[in-house]
Amino acid sequence: MFIDWKGKVEDKFYVLGHPAVPVYLLDGKRPVLFDAGFTGLSKIYKREISQVLGDRSPYLLLLTHSHWDHVGSVSYLKDSWPEMKVGGSSQAGETVKRTKVIKQIRALNKEAMHDLREWGVKEVFEGQFESFDLDVMLKDGDIFQLESSLSIEVIYTPGHTWDFLSYWVPEKRILVASEAVTCDGISEFLVDYDAYLDSLKRLSVLDVRTLCTGHGLVITGVEAKKYILDSMKGTKTYVSMVEQFLREEKGNIDRVVARIKEIEWENRGMPKQPEKAYIMNTELRAKLILERIKDNM
Ligand SMILES: [Zn+2]
Repeated sequence: MFIDWKGKVEDKFYVLGHPAVPVYLLDGKRPVLFDAGFTGLSKIYKREISQVLGDRSPYLLLLTHSHWDHVGSVSYLKDSWPEMKVGGSSQAGETVKRTKVIKQIRALNKEAMHDLREWGVKEVFEGQFESFDLDVMLKDGDIFQLESSLSIEVIYTPGHTWDFLSYWVPEKRILVASEAVTCDGISEFLVDYDAYLDSLKRLSVLDVRTLCTGHGLVITGVEAKKYILDSMKGTKTYVSMVEQFLREEKGNIDRVVARIKEIEWENRGMPKQPEKAYIMNTELRAKLILERIKDNM
């Protein structure tokens, strides 16, 4: 089943905030949140998390990576539940402390407030992104034993970024892969195409029953595993298309990005990735592919 709405996905597992920029909640004795979305959605995340947890505090907030649209409300949520621990890779922890990065995360989140209004979101939080410290540094193979029969395994899945972690809940066969898989029809490798494919290959052997993407979609049942395999195929098809455009446009990145955007973004319905972030990411992908083929064009 393809779930593009928010709410309860299955027993003790929820998509909260906004389906396009979700916070996932795994409830239990020690409730765990995954990712922290847009700053502008902070109030809505908090309210909806509280609706599920009542007066209980989340135990952990686990971050997949340090991008602006996955860490936007960390500080707000941490202020709301001071005892909650925030975990992520050490690279992600360092990244969100850099002055230049903080400035960029703030600017993109500010711009996304317009997108939120365009999407019809009523309760946009107007505050700015604040940096934060990680309480727990995570690496590949780490395991959180939450209860006797509920655990989370940390899987290092670089390619979208170098600081990327996916989270696997074996007892419930839930995989929070975020942008380690295709999101919104877009292949998400931004720093390394080969690492991205290798990460997908690693995730494809898991017996996934509930797959949580980064934006707009949770896939359950037999389609979940298939979606990971399709992400691999889609990534290869995308690269072939961009290679062709690069050859036709003689390596001119601006023209190539405009052509990809025409096909992939222009006619897509709302909500979709904000334009500035989309162009920035598409440029990164096109440059990576150009780097791979430039001696052979
Ligand atoms: Zn990202």
